[in-house]
Amino acid sequence: MSQFRLSRRPDIGDKIRVSFEFFPPKSDEMEKRLWDTVTRLEQLRPRFVSVTYGAGGSTRERTARTVKRILNETSLTPAAHMTCVDASRAEVDAVIREFAEMGVSRFVALRGDPAEGVGAAYQPHPEGYANGAELVGAMREIGDFDISVSAYPEKHPESPDFATDIDMLKRKVDNGATRAITQFFFDNDMYERYVERVRRAGLYIPIVPGILPVHNFAQVANFCSRCGAHVPAWLAERFEGLAQDPQTHALVASAVAAEQVLDLVERGVSDFHFYTMNRADLVFAICHMIGIRAHPVEENAAASAAA
Ligand code: FAD
Repeated sequence: MSQFRLSRRPDIGDKIRVSFEFFPPKSDEMEKRLWDTVTRLEQLRPRFVSVTYGAGGSTRERTARTVKRILNETSLTPAAHMTCVDASRAEVDAVIREFAEMGVSRFVALRGDPAEGVGAAYQPHPEGYANGAELVGAMREIGDFDISVSAYPEKHPESPDFATDIDMLKRKVDNGATRAITQFFFDNDMYERYVERVRRAGLYIPIVPGILPVHNFAQVANFCSRCGAHVPAWLAERFEGLAQDPQTHALVASAVAAEQVLDLVERGVSDFHFYTMNRADLVFAICHMIGIRAHPVEENAAASAAA
């Protein structure tokens, strides 16, 4: 089925825009893997690449270092994730300004999870921003940034219902968010229903699907159970018995993600955000299948300088 879609739409790659998400490395080995990944994916000319942000001083420092290196050593446009966790408003504002001084013009604004982990009750810092919407408002006050926020096709686990969840998205848009990136999902019908709900609420910002190539099904299933995402039975079946067979696992993962992305393209989606897990192979292959081709990095530098 995928082959027919590609052959019917040979110019597909020209219309599709991608962004890639990385997390800041914790060791020299992880640092090397990240930079190998960044260098490989840079050739695909993503619209931007984002770097996640964790609670605690040392992880914030790592995010800043990674963003700075992307700015200084690549042709890529970085987006810095920021959260409200364990920080006063003044501290958060200072970090926003530091990023801006570094040359960052894009942010992904999030409330974040409690330091104890997903599932624990969130307690805002007594002098901090309470949620993503307040953080977006603070960013908008500080500068003319491109601000993305989160969206949850299955609703956030803390939201009692979709109406409450979409109301929070509306507050983020009202405060200046221009794009939402979704939590990863595997059921495209559910994504489509969510986008319909968002549109019915009068929100017209892009709801960019977050695509997670399944590098390790057991880990993904475990994470899904903690963050309230649904693992369809067909997905579990595809990976059944492959835990000890990484090569077949990778081939199946690339087919599953390509199928998902191509189906979304058929439904009219043109922007995709990939959760890379700091690995290039699957994302590179999937992008290739949707018609995105590698360009020499020197050309990319010239193209971004001209833009
Ligand atoms: P918000 O949008 O502020 O709220 C999420 C939901 O909780 C709302 O929809 C709302 O229904 C409910 N809620 C919140 N406050 C209230 C309230 N006062 N009353 C009623 N309901 C409320 N985490 C990180 O730590 N670092 C990252 O870099 C990071 N990047 C992410 C990137 C993306 C694209 C996504 C989707 C998630 C990311 N996360 C990250 C995870 C995110 O921090 C968690 O999902 C967190 O639990 C919620 O953050 P949020 O910004 O979505 O929250």
